[in-house]
Amino acid sequence: MQKRTIALHGGYEGNEQGTMAVPIYQTTAYEFESTEHAANLFALKDLGNIYTRLMNPTTDVLEKRFAQMEEGAAAIATASGASAIFYAFANVAEAGDNILIAKQAYGGTTTLTGHTLKRFGIEARYFDIHDLDAMEQQIDADTKMIFFEVIPNPSVEMTDMDKITEIAARHRVLLCADNTVATPILCTPLTLGADVVVHSTSKYTTGQGLALGGMLVESREILVKLENNPRYSHFTEPDESYHGLVYTEVGLPPFSLRARLALLRDFGATPSPFNSWLFIQGLETLALRMEQHSRSALEVATFLEQHPKVHKVNYPGLPSSPDYALSQKYFTKGMASGLLSFELESREEAQRVADALKLFKLVVNIGDSKSIATHPASTTHQQLSEQELLGAGATGGLIRLSIGLEDPVDLIEDLTQAIGS
Ligand SMILES: *Cc1c(COP(=O)(O)O)cnc(C)c1O
Repeated sequence: MQKRTIALHGGYEGNEQGTMAVPIYQTTAYEFESTEHAANLFALKDLGNIYTRLMNPTTDVLEKRFAQMEEGAAAIATASGASAIFYAFANVAEAGDNILIAKQAYGGTTTLTGHTLKRFGIEARYFDIHDLDAMEQQIDADTKMIFFEVIPNPSVEMTDMDKITEIAARHRVLLCADNTVATPILCTPLTLGADVVVHSTSKYTTGQGLALGGMLVESREILVKLENNPRYSHFTEPDESYHGLVYTEVGLPPFSLRARLALLRDFGATPSPFNSWLFIQGLETLALRMEQHSRSALEVATFLEQHPKVHKVNYPGLPSSPDYALSQKYFTKGMASGLLSFELESREEAQRVADALKLFKLVVNIGDSKSIATHPASTTHQQLSEQELLGAGATGGLIRLSIGLEDPVDLIEDLTQAIGS
């Protein structure tokens, strides 16, 4: 099935009531038929609902649909993008291990890996997406994951995905791609060789800035990297916390199985059934929206590129962009998403322009149907050091735009009056 069709039907075969729309199963728990039935569910002899911290029928449709759209084996929905990213790391790394993280990343990912995980004894080693040879040098026997963003927020640059997947495959290290900005409509990293994909579904998936959520999707080929690999022996050896369960031997996608049984069980960053339902509504129109976001963003980027006060525009869909060839190679034809950033003379000038915008709202979000402007250095990336800011591409003069679904004529008019001449 094509992605547009999956977005409408994937993971839902109707129910006894014949409801056309996926129902919201607003419940905390599920009744067992007997103690034996309950025991079988807990022992995974029967698969079924136990408690909403672990699973929910509405969320199940969302997970199945998302996994199909990403061409993965299975998915786990979480309460936020931040928790999905944390689970991706917590599923593989423990004290004494290290993870390799692209410098060009969302600010929350940088603080999670550089500060919070450090307190748990997990070391983050940062790399520049433009120097993957240097990244390779940082891999050692304790490296558990390589992490990058398909379209980094806010620097909007691209990684050579052939090269990063080749390095990860050669060292047999799991590669995780944050596909929040590209979405499965533009790109399916699992088909390019990534092992895990994470999302903040708070962005393009909901599409209207309505709810916080995250997603973790695993590849159909992940066993190749987990089996006979000392890095991941916790997947192939008995888990004491689950009666000696061996995750790779259950016959279910092992990465999500462990994320569900160990991480959702113990950390519980589960989405509410209502929010899962909102994401299902969002997925139905995702393809249409991504087409329009991409078309309008290209118009705005083209306008900004010609403006004398704009020093640089970062948008991989611009033919003049150094990433244009990569966007043509990896993205669905004619699309490069709705995120772009541009550089003005100074921090003061960027703040003046951001404050002068009227139709663009000053908000720390992206992927909304309404257009958004952000000054990352004073907001999303404020907790980063000068060094980290430069690494993330979040310089003082940078403004990030998330192009919404308004008529681009009005967006360009707003930018014209704000930037001035
Ligand atoms: C927003 C965002 C996150 C964090 O997601 P939340 O849903 O806000 O927790 C992670 N990665 C990227 C690329 C994002 O844009």
